[in-house]
Amino acid sequence: MPVYKAEGIVIRRGNLGEADRLVTLLCRDQGKVTAAAKGARKPKSRFAGRLELFSHVRVLLAVGRTLDVVSQVEVAAAFAALRENLDRLAYAALAVELADRATADREPAPDLFRALRTALDLMQTGDPQMIALWFAAQLLVHSGYAPTTDRCQVCGRSVRSGAAFSYALGGVLCGTDQHRDPDAVIASAGALRAIGYLLHVQPEALARLVQVGGLLQGYAEYRLETKLKSPLVIQKLLKTGTPTPTTSARGGARERGNGGTRTR
Ligand SMILES: [Zn+2]
Repeated sequence: MPVYKAEGIVIRRGNLGEADRLVTLLCRDQGKVTAAAKGARKPKSRFAGRLELFSHVRVLLAVGRTLDVVSQVEVAAAFAALRENLDRLAYAALAVELADRATADREPAPDLFRALRTALDLMQTGDPQMIALWFAAQLLVHSGYAPTTDRCQVCGRSVRSGAAFSYALGGVLCGTDQHRDPDAVIASAGALRAIGYLLHVQPEALARLVQVGGLLQGYAEYRLETKLKSPLVIQKLLKTGTPTPTTSARGGARERGNGGTRTR
């Protein structure tokens, strides 16, 4: 059987037969590859602990008739911290599920592989929800679905304030064009800026922001003499401040509930 090397992240696992495991890897060069790991569910398997969900691995694959077969595995990064905490586990699972759904078998997606690798790495210590949002934004960029956040999707006119956001048309609509999608929802200027930031921020800048979040959380926990359950310390801190009428979560929900074609 011909063999080939691949480097990928385990994005899905399943059982196959009595003792085999089915693993789906998002590979840097080959794209999404599903392969069989023979005997991987036996306690003394040589694959034990090496094909865990989220693991970044280097594998040797043998070309099979229907499925390729894993013959060797080397773990490049286990990302064990992601499986030891429920929040991190949930958001890392969301990231790999998004990657799985957005890719087709054997279509190379090296940028997406790198973005997923970065996201899982940062999730080990940083706020997993924010990083999952960043990854979702990167996935839209790499799939060619990045929404416009500062220009009307129809006429290209600059949109600076809050505006109608159209899922169907893929971005914001100016006052003249908002009638083109009756299902468009109202997005505040702040929300649009935040989406624009997540779409364009570089991993290095995101890593800095994650570190800032970690320091703020650590300091808040020290001062409040408590371990915060939610890592979203910034949200908690914001809730203790006085919400302004236009940015409160309830106001946003009410506007969306109205069918969402009204601009402020
Ligand atoms: Zn327009």
